[in-house]
Amino acid sequence: MRGKIIKGIAGFYYVRVTGSGIYECRARGLFRKEKIKPMIGDNVEIEALSEEPKEGNVTEILPRRNSLYRPAVANVDAGLVIFAAAKPAANLNLLDRFLVMMEKQGIETAVCFNKADLAPEQAAEYAGIYRKAGYSAFLTDAKRETGLSEILAFLRGKTVTVAGPSGVGKSTMINHLQPQAGMETGSISAKIDRGKHTTRHSELIRVEEDTYIMDTPGFTSLLLEDMRPEELKEYFPEFREEEGKCRFRGCAHLKEPDCAVKAALAAGRISESRYENYKEIYASLKARKPF
Ligand code: GDP
Ligand code: ZN
Repeated sequence: MRGKIIKGIAGFYYVRVTGSGIYECRARGLFRKEKIKPMIGDNVEIEALSEEPKEGNVTEILPRRNSLYRPAVANVDAGLVIFAAAKPAANLNLLDRFLVMMEKQGIETAVCFNKADLAPEQAAEYAGIYRKAGYSAFLTDAKRETGLSEILAFLRGKTVTVAGPSGVGKSTMINHLQPQAGMETGSISAKIDRGKHTTRHSELIRVEEDTYIMDTPGFTSLLLEDMRPEELKEYFPEFREEEGKCRFRGCAHLKEPDCAVKAALAAGRISESRYENYKEIYASLKARKPF
């Protein structure tokens, strides 16, 4: 049977098989030899050992399209990052750092400003900044389920990692997107935790057939470990548009004369906030400061 690993805890892998449910699986020694460990998001072959309860063995990991390190998940199609338009105010610097990380990993990412009901003008301004940079930007009011059909349209058919600082309404949104999420994860947790203190584990939540979201806990410890400052500009899509138009090859778009990025900034094609955050992130990479 073919399925997808939705959760992994202490040597057990929870594999969702379409039409059959979730199997608690062990991975056979086979993988240890090959030095490849199953991970969340992996598409796998399993052999069922029992149906009541559902248990089996993972026998094969199908080739991965990609794998993210943080959060650790394979076969991600896209990212969705959620901030609030207000309460708490959006930290665009943190948002830009996150987008840089996703660009570096080559994963298409969309931005969502939730709680648009609390600050509609602010929300529209934020969305404008990111649309100008080439991103899809959604405005939502998760509490009243406004704008969620657009989010669902973005997610459909994909495996999407969803991130955002706490308090922005991520749980509210995920609960509305996937009303049966609680049920499904509840049944796994009951089995795993058996009354023990519940620690949070990453998992894939099924929104629809072939549509999964990875609820990514935490947002503060973003590190761009191996990035060279010179590389940063490649991860600002709107800067890439200007690439090759600066006077100097290898222009960092900082103090150089005749810089096309600064010209685009002056002309309003590049947003102030994006450019300021570029400079700030560049400086912190230069100083080798972890974020
Ligand atoms: P999380 O920490 O990101 O998962 O945030 P929660 O989903 O727990 O939401 C935090 C608070 O914001 C709760 O009191 C929600 O009811 C509220 N909230 C969530 N979404 C919205 C929204 O779109 N508009 C408003 N006004 N409040 C919201
Ligand atoms: Zn330049």
